[in-house]
Amino acid sequence: MRLALLVAAAAAVMAVSAPLSAQAGDNGRSVRTHSQAPARNMAGTHAQHRISPDVRQSSSRTSSGNVTPRGRYDSEPVGNYSSGCLVNGIQVNGDSHFYQLYHPQNQRHYADISMISFLERYSRKVRQAGIDSVLVGDISSRYGGPFNKGHASHQIGLDVDIEFNHRRLPQSRLTTKGNAQVLVNPGAQTVNSNFNRKYYDMLMIAARDPEVERIFVSPAIKVAVCDMTKDEREQPFLRKIRPWYGHTEHFHIRLRCPDHAHSCVRQDPPEPKFSIAQEREEAMSWFDPPQVRAQNVALAAALDSQRRSASGSSAVSSVLSAAVKPDPKPRKVFPERCSMYYQSLNIPMKAPGSQGKKRRR
Ligand SMILES: [Zn+2]
Repeated sequence: MRLALLVAAAAAVMAVSAPLSAQAGDNGRSVRTHSQAPARNMAGTHAQHRISPDVRQSSSRTSSGNVTPRGRYDSEPVGNYSSGCLVNGIQVNGDSHFYQLYHPQNQRHYADISMISFLERYSRKVRQAGIDSVLVGDISSRYGGPFNKGHASHQIGLDVDIEFNHRRLPQSRLTTKGNAQVLVNPGAQTVNSNFNRKYYDMLMIAARDPEVERIFVSPAIKVAVCDMTKDEREQPFLRKIRPWYGHTEHFHIRLRCPDHAHSCVRQDPPEPKFSIAQEREEAMSWFDPPQVRAQNVALAAALDSQRRSASGSSAVSSVLSAAVKPDPKPRKVFPERCSMYYQSLNIPMKAPGSQGKKRRR
């Protein structure tokens, strides 16, 4: 029963913490769509950017071999992170010296231009910190929108999963499973010996990037990061690192809505905190939320009373019926602009929230 209460309370926390909100507009910008480009040649060709000619013209080639766009782009995140689409998504270059694409066969490495720039910038900084390579997991599917399986968000090209692995993998292992390290002990309350300074640096380098709005990690990892941070001036960056379910073998970076994306729905900032101790306390609360503690005390008293009297069983059921239940999830509204985009591409519309049972953030 205690487990049931914990599960219910955890679900309630999830509903309360679900971090999305608000308001879309439409920039009405006319864009050249990838639907007008030739059908993609996907047979193992993840080694090139699929940046549109417009972008390529205004780009320069970096020493890593990537194309860094300057000035012009036509990709556009529309809607919010969990209900939206990616107009003219750009396929991430799989031929970087600084990062590798994990599971490229899944076709989930389409991104907004701001994500492409971020990956380039981030993976270089990570290399400067002595880390071999960044293993880039899912971003978005080609046109964004809901996945058939696996994610609630990742719909607009601004979310990326980074696997916990700091070594460059042989090409043959990029398409196989089990190449990320699990950093958390069974029970998910403490980190294990795989957690080290390299992962701390990977998280903090991301958190210091001004385009990064949130980073999701297991609460145990957030606690470990707080314990390793000694300078209070780092607290605003720690604030971006959000405790969340799962995220024991990857972390999830979310970029802010870029300036060119007028229909991208911004997320409310997390409630402010003012010290590393407060950050740590918040993460620890995931293991023992106060409402669960209060319910456990009430349940213990009711069970005690049950042992002593016949009326005890009704006391137990009233405690259970008062248990924290998850708030109903707000109905997701799929942006009309996305519906029109999908219609124009002849893509069947997937109902928002139809991502299947097993979900990653
Ligand atoms: Zn994710």
